Amino acid sequence: MDPDALAERKMQFLFALRSRGVTDPAVLGAMEAVDRGPFVRGLFAERAYEDTPLPIACGQTISQPSVVGLMTQALEVTSRDKVLEVGTGSGYQAAILAQLARRVYTVDRHKRLVHEARGVFDAMGIVNITSLIGDGSFGLPDQAPFDRIIVTAAAEDPPGPLLAQLKIGGIMVVPVGQSDAVQSLIRVRRTEDGFDYDELRAVRFVPLLEGVAREND
Ligand code: SAH
Repeated sequence: MDPDALAERKMQFLFALRSRGVTDPAVLGAMEAVDRGPFVRGLFAERAYEDTPLPIACGQTISQPSVVGLMTQALEVTSRDKVLEVGTGSGYQAAILAQLARRVYTVDRHKRLVHEARGVFDAMGIVNITSLIGDGSFGLPDQAPFDRIIVTAAAEDPPGPLLAQLKIGGIMVVPVGQSDAVQSLIRVRRTEDGFDYDELRAVRFVPLLEGVAREND
């Protein structure tokens, strides 16, 4: 794409984010800084600057940018935060978080997605993301507790190990509901004496699945 056309598309991209409720200047700044193009490969690369989810490898999807923005905004990330993302996918959400947080740990059950995302982080010179292959429903006990946790696949309930790995005062954002239905995006705040939940909006995510994917899945 020629530079003028790219600049034009990026302006429209930011406009679409604002009109869908992404208003936090830090989040908009991060989304302006991180090019979505390199995270979308092949057939759909042309559509990287549209506010739409797109297919990626392993039958997964890169989330809709306005949903990435709204989830990031709901997470209230600060530059001191250690963040866990479950569901690396393309790596786009992790790259946005990396602009705002001190360190991001991101986990995916597909080895191929983790390797491809690492390649993009390296090419972009992003150095504060640690990406790992694993079943993220169990969190990362060695790195816990986390200031912020974001789950980008739908669970029937917020996974217990993730709640346990959230710091007091910490925030978790997770889509909850049946995988083939519309789900609710939930924000959980851990307090001194428990968890406060609020429901943010309807969303649709691929399901949180058990275990590490086999090589050919
Ligand atoms: N955040 C991604 C989109 C994620 S799509 C992005 O910005 O592109 C959801 C991802 O969750 C998929 O890549 C899927 O492989 C992963 N996933 C599903 N269940 C998982 C689990 N139990 N542990 C880790 N990753 C999981």
